Amino acid sequence: MRTEKNFETDAIRNQMDRTPYSEHSTPLFLTSSFVFDDAEDMRASFAEEKEKNLYSRFTNPNTTEFIDKIVKMEGAESGYAFATGMAAIYATFAALLSAGDHIVSARSVFGSTHTLFTKYFPKWNISTSYFKVEEVDQIEDLIQPNTKILYAETPTNPGVDIIDLEVLSKVAKKHNLILIIDNCFATPYIQKPIHFGADIVVHSATKLIDGQGRVLGGVAVGREDLIREIYLFARNTGPAMSPFNAWVLSKSLETLAVRVEKHCENALKVAEFLENHPKVNWVKYPFLKSHPMHEVAKKQMKFGGNIVAFEIKGGIEAGRTFLNKIKMCSLSANLGDTRTIVTHPASTTHSKLSIEDRMEVSITDGLVRTSIGLEHIDDIISDFEQALS
Ligand SMILES: *Cc1c(COP(=O)(O)O)cnc(C)c1O
Repeated sequence: MRTEKNFETDAIRNQMDRTPYSEHSTPLFLTSSFVFDDAEDMRASFAEEKEKNLYSRFTNPNTTEFIDKIVKMEGAESGYAFATGMAAIYATFAALLSAGDHIVSARSVFGSTHTLFTKYFPKWNISTSYFKVEEVDQIEDLIQPNTKILYAETPTNPGVDIIDLEVLSKVAKKHNLILIIDNCFATPYIQKPIHFGADIVVHSATKLIDGQGRVLGGVAVGREDLIREIYLFARNTGPAMSPFNAWVLSKSLETLAVRVEKHCENALKVAEFLENHPKVNWVKYPFLKSHPMHEVAKKQMKFGGNIVAFEIKGGIEAGRTFLNKIKMCSLSANLGDTRTIVTHPASTTHSKLSIEDRMEVSITDGLVRTSIGLEHIDDIISDFEQALS
């Protein structure tokens, strides 16, 4: 008998041990602490001679189930779950870096991650250099003797650019850097960065992992020795995921494969529709042949993801008009929801950047970012069609 199960099966069948109540679905352990049999049990548990839950800031059966599933899905050795994606990203850096260290990062990263690099890390004398996503061949020029981490997201937000994970991994190995990938836009169903050489993968579980716009969550998985440092940092500083959110998110993982596959099928159809529309200058979607990094996307991704970016003809005003005419889809800051969401970065999330800085991360005036949901494809396209007319 084959003992290795497939992704979908593991997502459903990897469960914590049943309690004496013989429940079928995983119960919710809303408890802040756990009890010990006697003084010796308590001593051995605190000394980590036994694997036992002590206190839910450290571990909890629900968070452990969620972590175990993501660890398996990403092909990692170990992991830890956080209250939000940003808590996972912050704790990962904070645990692994010391004052004086240097980060090399892709220029296009999630806004709050960028704020960590520019506003907070300099307080501790941690500096960051940036490479353009289309210039991975120049990363080595940015490496200094004190560089410790190489960091990137792929696909990127909101430009849907693709970075070659194999190239990043080669540079990281050659210079002994820790390669950290934010795999939020892809999910482990579509892309497994560890397979290409990443040391740590971080996620905002708030997005496609929850997939239904309900709870916040984050997770970091990867090399055992590094996760141990991250775990110890988290255990003492307190950004743990709540057991309730872990219970919701572990349930969400049971349907991740079917949901994500449908998201991607809808997104490809929307991308094809937009590509042929006269009011659209260009469309960026990894699984369109016109994407500049289509071949790399095909190499490292199973599907193209659910984010489609396109540029409307007519600049900022045309972008705002498109949003105003949208009837069914949502104007919201989230992404990876069952509901299709549209945003116009130039007039909202990135409006404070100078035009030059926006262009550096390819946010043109007419750029619209869409997170394609699970509504019927005909209804999504007809909403876009009437809003473009
Ligand atoms: C949303 C997001 C984050 C932050 O996650 P939160 O759960 O909102 O803290 C980090 N990275 C990417 C790529 C994201 O989309």
